[in-house]
Amino acid sequence: MPELPEVEATVEYLRERVEGHTIVSASVTWARSVLPTPAPDFEKQVLNAKIETLFRRGKYVGMKLNGITPLYLFTHLRMSGSLDVVPTTFEVAKHDRVCLDLDNGKSIRFNDTRKFGRMRLCVEPDEVVGNLGLEPLGPEFTPEALEALILGKRGRIKPMLLDQGLIAGLGNIYVDEVLWKTRIHPLTPTTGLSPSDIEPLHGAIQETLREAIEKLGTDFGDGVVDGGMYRPKVYGRAGKTCSRCGDTILRTVVGQRGTHLCPTCQKKRRARSASKRKHK
Ligand SMILES: [Zn+2]
Repeated sequence: MPELPEVEATVEYLRERVEGHTIVSASVTWARSVLPTPAPDFEKQVLNAKIETLFRRGKYVGMKLNGITPLYLFTHLRMSGSLDVVPTTFEVAKHDRVCLDLDNGKSIRFNDTRKFGRMRLCVEPDEVVGNLGLEPLGPEFTPEALEALILGKRGRIKPMLLDQGLIAGLGNIYVDEVLWKTRIHPLTPTTGLSPSDIEPLHGAIQETLREAIEKLGTDFGDGVVDGGMYRPKVYGRAGKTCSRCGDTILRTVVGQRGTHLCPTCQKKRRARSASKRKHK
């Protein structure tokens, strides 16, 4: 499933090819991909709209459109979605759900085998992305902000880092990587973390995402992210050796998500006792 770095790579890819161009023909071949807008309305509303800018918010690809009225189009790729740009003469592929032909002879194809992805049209961005939390590479994401987000809440660290309403864009791959780097067990209760954990955690989130963006994300060979060169240290490496200590990487399940960790580097921690916290 594409996360922040993969979505960022998609935005860059699209920006070079479609920014500044106008949609001259639109067809939705799977109506649910554009819910809640009815497919005929979607086609009508994007027709003759100019794609002014491309941007990313969390795991959404954003497009600012200027047609009869200004609109935003947000695409969430979910499990298997991808946005490709091909010549308009290319035959529509089996899993292409939405095709947007442009005035430069190119066509944006929203391809989605498993059909969980969505293209949502809205007038105000907040209608779609209003509930998202902080951008982890944005100026507002400081160690202090991270501390306020997680030390003030009860829960386990991994589900909390995956919560898009707190931090937008982190997913299963990069959360496992970040926790391995900071030697934090994914099930650690946030009450088991101390303020001294925060700065390294903040640093690891930003470093990991920046490195992955530079490498165009992670390619698992499933055709979802082509050409990504990020090599995970723990994610997807169950049974292989931890590059730091030589122990064997384990796969477990945390909050229904496959989770990878090194049992030596990432020891379980308990909640710190109330009295200890009081005397801190
Ligand atoms: Zn290890």
